[in-house]
This record gives sequence, structure tokens and C-alpha cells, in this order.
Amino acid sequence: MSAPSENDSEGPIAPEHEMSEMAEQIARQQAKPIEVQIFDGIRTDRGSPVLPVRLMADDMFAFRCHKGIGCWNKCCHDTDITLTPMDILRLSRRLELRPRDFLAQYTLPAIHEQSNLPVAKLRMRSAGGGACVFMHEVDGCTVYPDRPATCRYYPLGFATVKLRDSEGKADFHFLVKEPHCLGHEESKLQSVDAFRREQGVVDYDRVNRGWMDILMKMVSWRTLGGPGGKDVAPQTQKMFFMVSTDVEAFRDFVFKTRFLETYQIDPEMTERLKVEDELLLALGFDWMKNVLFNEPTIALREDVLHQAIAQKREEVGGG
Ligand code: SF4
Ligand code: SF4
Repeated sequence: MSAPSENDSEGPIAPEHEMSEMAEQIARQQAKPIEVQIFDGIRTDRGSPVLPVRLMADDMFAFRCHKGIGCWNKCCHDTDITLTPMDILRLSRRLELRPRDFLAQYTLPAIHEQSNLPVAKLRMRSAGGGACVFMHEVDGCTVYPDRPATCRYYPLGFATVKLRDSEGKADFHFLVKEPHCLGHEESKLQSVDAFRREQGVVDYDRVNRGWMDILMKMVSWRTLGGPGGKDVAPQTQKMFFMVSTDVEAFRDFVFKTRFLETYQIDPEMTERLKVEDELLLALGFDWMKNVLFNEPTIALREDVLHQAIAQKREEVGGG
């Protein structure tokens, strides 16, 4: 019997070829891009969808939805729709409601699972098969011109991917075939890009970009452990929810707190922020990127910066 080696206490050692396979597997896993689904395209749990097919902008697919199709309105029951900031803006304007009243009446608070950030979901009339609050049995969607981005995209999903070792990211779409949706049997062929334009999602994506970037970055931080691997503080989560769901509350925050005394915002921009909701959203996302990830998306005023530096020096005893 041979004397125990140093490695015996660590359990059996795999043969060399298995070790290299394991190393390759780990390397593959680490190189795998991080994928965040923004609109999942699978909105119900009423049946397993056919495996999603990944599509690029010029890829073609056959689909047509129209009044009179056998499955009319089926997709508007028992759905799981995360509302984007632009959805909330458009729907509350359409219904002439303040965002906070729209949220209270038509949404439920939820957590975006991958990023652990708070979001608002559209309410269904009842659990387990209930229709969307905006659905009319005969007329269909009562808010159609301002329907949410998920409804516009359906049956496409939207995801954004990031390579682990770079800041670069890329968007892609995927086609999801749910068994109840007969639109896939229609012969109308279109490219993903043409469908996006027809459905009016281009503007939505432009306004929602900052929000999607934050979800993406938070997922990648959570996956990779982020700086310090810390979770977002509850107060910061609340701020994120306010910025992305209630433009009026964020406007009050900008104009009624020390925000404008803290950050460099030029006078012309300040005037525009009083009335332009989309611009205010963009500012909110820049501010959140700075708060959450320390990105240089918004600058402190010089006097505030000098004060902060002096305070830091004092803390570290630099005099
Ligand atoms: S908002 Fe309109 S399209 Fe979307 S699920 Fe509700 S009724 Fe259907
Ligand atoms: S074709 Fe698909 S998207 Fe259109 S009504 Fe039917 S289930 Fe909904």
C-alpha cells in the first residue's frame, strides 16, 4: 500500500483527458453570452410552444393576424405582459390618467426575474384564463393604437445578448409558435424588420433603450457577480421603479429636490424637461446608470464635485 499523497484528501482525481474536457466545458460556459429576454413572446402557460426560432432583422417568417381568424382574441387571455416605460407613457396618455392612477388601476407590481429589478405587469381580469383588462370580446383590443410593445411584437420575442468579456451587445428576435395561434398558418411573408415597422415598435425600442440597457447590465452583473456582487439597495430599486413607471413623480423629483443643484443640466434642457416626457425618461435612465453602475452618463456640478472630493480626502485623512 502506498503512502497517501497530498491530493488524496481532496478526493479522486479525474484522468487527464476528462480534466481537459471539464476545462473545455467550463471555458465554453464562461464564454457563453449572457442573454436577456425583454419580450419573451411566450405569453401564456396554456401549452408548450414549439421551440423558439432565432431570427435576425432580414430573416423572413410567415404570419398574419386579422379580425375573423379562428383564434381571434385568444392571445389576449391569461397573458404575462411586462409594461415598458413607453407603454405606461402611451397608455396613461390615452386613458387621460396620471401614471400613478394608471398603475393603480391597470397593473400589478412584479420583479423582472433575471435582473431582480421591479417592473409593472398588465392586469388580467381574473386569474387562470381571464382576459386582459383592455380586451373587448367583439371589438378586440380597446387600446390598439397604444397597445404595449409585447402585444406589438407578438409572435416575436425580443432579446439582447452580451458577450461576457466585452461591453458589446446585440439584439435579436425569435419566433414563438403557440398552439392556439393560427396566424402562423397564413401565407403572408415578411421580414422581421418589416414586421417591426408595421407594428410601430421602432419608436418604442428607441425610448425604451436605456431601460433595456439597465436590465441587461444588471443581469450581467448578477451573472458575473458584479463589483462586490451586491444586490441593489431597496431605496435604489424604488428609484428605478419611479423612473421607469411614473414620469410625473420623477419630474417632481427633478424639479422639487436638490437634483438640479447636484447635476449639470443646461438651462435649455431644463426647460424642455418640464414638458417632454420622453426626454425626462432618457435623463432618468442616464441617472440610474450612474447610480447603479457608476457610468459617466450624467455629470455632477463642479461645486458639488469639489465638495465631494474634499469630503473624501477628509475621510481618508488626506487633509
Ligand atoms: S393590450 Fe390589447 S393587444 Fe395587448 S393583451 Fe390587452 S387586449 Fe390584447
Ligand atoms: S392570430 Fe395569433 S395573434 Fe392573432 S388573434 Fe390569433 S392568437 Fe392572437
